[in-house]
Amino acid sequence: MSAPKVAIFMGAPGAGKGTQAVRVSESIGLAHISTGDLFRENISNDTDLGKRAKGFMESGQLVPDELVLDMLFDRVQQPDCQSGYILDGFPRTVVQAEALTERLNGASVHAVDIQVPDEVIVDRIAGRLLCRSCGNIQHTEFDPPETEGVCSKCSGELYQRKDDAPDTVKDRLAVYHEQTAPVVDYYHSRGILARVDGMQSPDSVFQSLIQGLPEEWKRESV
Ligand code: AMP
Repeated sequence: MSAPKVAIFMGAPGAGKGTQAVRVSESIGLAHISTGDLFRENISNDTDLGKRAKGFMESGQLVPDELVLDMLFDRVQQPDCQSGYILDGFPRTVVQAEALTERLNGASVHAVDIQVPDEVIVDRIAGRLLCRSCGNIQHTEFDPPETEGVCSKCSGELYQRKDDAPDTVKDRLAVYHEQTAPVVDYYHSRGILARVDGMQSPDSVFQSLIQGLPEEWKRESV
């Protein structure tokens, strides 16, 4: 059996990493793991973890590393992650990246940074809609639902995330530059980082992401 494949999708909030991670995961058959989705699930199920994470999320801050690491490592032990997975929104600190490296000993790891300038982010996020049932991401302008408030994929309820309010987005961007940008450097210095221009059309971003995958992953999926 070949080594598990782990793709790490990075980018500022609103860069498109969630949307693209879903598309790439469907295309190459790896599980899509979003730590933000896992936290939102815990919050809607009113778990202890959800209660502890809620305040940090709503104020645009990162949830403390130890809570994230336990939750993530627990999730990637599930059978659907055995051949590999795409990480969306993790790691977000160098401590998380180091813990992941230790954990992934022997895996084939590929990191990608989807780049979008800060000026574009606030507008992009202002119209973002999320499905309560399937996690699908739409946009009032760029990917409007056929029926207002109804997910085009599963007919679930679309809503706007509380932390997508413009003031909170500014805080999230500051957190991104301070704590997550060094994670991009971490993977660059290890020679496993691809950079993709997130200002292209969603289809072109997707094509660039697929083209940038390690050659051995592409060979194996043919
Ligand atoms: P996202 O859906 O990826 O934008 O994440 C939403 C929020 O969840 C973030 O603003 C953080 O508060 C929290 N979160 C998600 N992933 C992480 C992580 N890897 N480390 C710390 N906090 C996280």
